[in-house]
Amino acid sequence: MPLRGASPGSRRAPSHRWRELLATALLVTLEARAGETWAIEHARLIASPAGAVVEDGTVVVRDGRVKAIGPSAAVPVPQGARRVDGRGGTVLPGYWNVHVHFTDERFVDAAHRPAEDLSRGCREMLTSRGFTTVVDLGSWPENTVALRRRAPSLDCPRILTTGIPMYPAGGVPIYVRKALGDEVADGLPQPKTGSEAARFVQQSLRLGARATKLFVGTWLGGSRTGLMDVAVVKGATAEAHRHGLVVFAHPGTIPGIEAAIEGGVNVLAHTAPDGGPWSPELIQRMRARRMAVVPTLSLWQVEMERGGVPKEGADRFIATGADQLRAFVAAGGEVLFGTDVGYIPEKDADEEVRRMAGAGMDWRAILGSLTSAPARRMKDPARGALAVGTPADLVLVEGDPRVDVEALTRVRATWTAGKSVFSR
Ligand SMILES: [Zn+2]
Repeated sequence: MPLRGASPGSRRAPSHRWRELLATALLVTLEARAGETWAIEHARLIASPAGAVVEDGTVVVRDGRVKAIGPSAAVPVPQGARRVDGRGGTVLPGYWNVHVHFTDERFVDAAHRPAEDLSRGCREMLTSRGFTTVVDLGSWPENTVALRRRAPSLDCPRILTTGIPMYPAGGVPIYVRKALGDEVADGLPQPKTGSEAARFVQQSLRLGARATKLFVGTWLGGSRTGLMDVAVVKGATAEAHRHGLVVFAHPGTIPGIEAAIEGGVNVLAHTAPDGGPWSPELIQRMRARRMAVVPTLSLWQVEMERGGVPKEGADRFIATGADQLRAFVAAGGEVLFGTDVGYIPEKDADEEVRRMAGAGMDWRAILGSLTSAPARRMKDPARGALAVGTPADLVLVEGDPRVDVEALTRVRATWTAGKSVFSR
């Protein structure tokens, strides 16, 4: 608090102290007023993916938290509270997107950029899609941490970041090399030993990372691939886990998935159509290690278009990704929602829900991947379901996701910690 920082301490006269105390009290009052009381009335309520649906419900928010939630008949709106009409809509816990990148032009120089520029970027890319928490799986950490610091005053979601990912030695993917140039690509972390990988984890922790990202299997052009040594993967995961970090891996290939399983990776950041179908044995081993998968199915469409792949081959590739997800889900695997937005345009991200539904996930399963599953994985379960006292990260969508799962993407309004960050 600035007042405390400005206090010169005990040499001050008592009258000044008294005045300072008064000023502090005033500030506290103003802060409480800034965290106003408001309510969404007469909306359908789905407080958690597994819970009951309330047809006519009300949520009361105070100081950024859920103050009351339940049937409208049982939850009175306090006098003087601002009211949001929720009729025709559904209130859900705020969504997570655990695969994003803050690397595009809109977020450059986040420390000094005008607030409205950054807010517009966040709305376009994320909060207009209902995302209230995101995990950045690779960007320049100084910039993303600057954005994260400013996020609470912007129309941005809460931001967690891995910082700069690690790559196999000599295995920086061809598209990363092309985008950054050889000199920068050669300077990216490519640990040769487990202890070197552990040092990179410590370094990114100091830069503000909250998770770790490894490229375990990479594409180097043509039929050439890169593979991270299992000892390196183990060195990185052991250090990351020691600090409570979740480890994401870009699998790329079947040997990449094998290295991720052996090395103790927590989450595959993609399906991996390059490697062909996933066998029941492979999926069993992923399940035994409690590995979660981020499907990024809409990404494959974008990649095929960018690569100019003829339709037949493209369709087969995309179907392989969907088949991997279908098999993984059928075996009881845990799915976390993620789109790779920032690398792909946001207009392509809305179809992810449709593709997941096409791979056999019902509305509860997809909602779980957007809310409770990532919240649990990232050790923040209060942000995965709505209840009295939880942070008021909320999405109001048009329609009923039970009737039409794509209603999940028809976002009318989004709030992070009770603050409006998007409304249509
Ligand atoms: Zn990505």
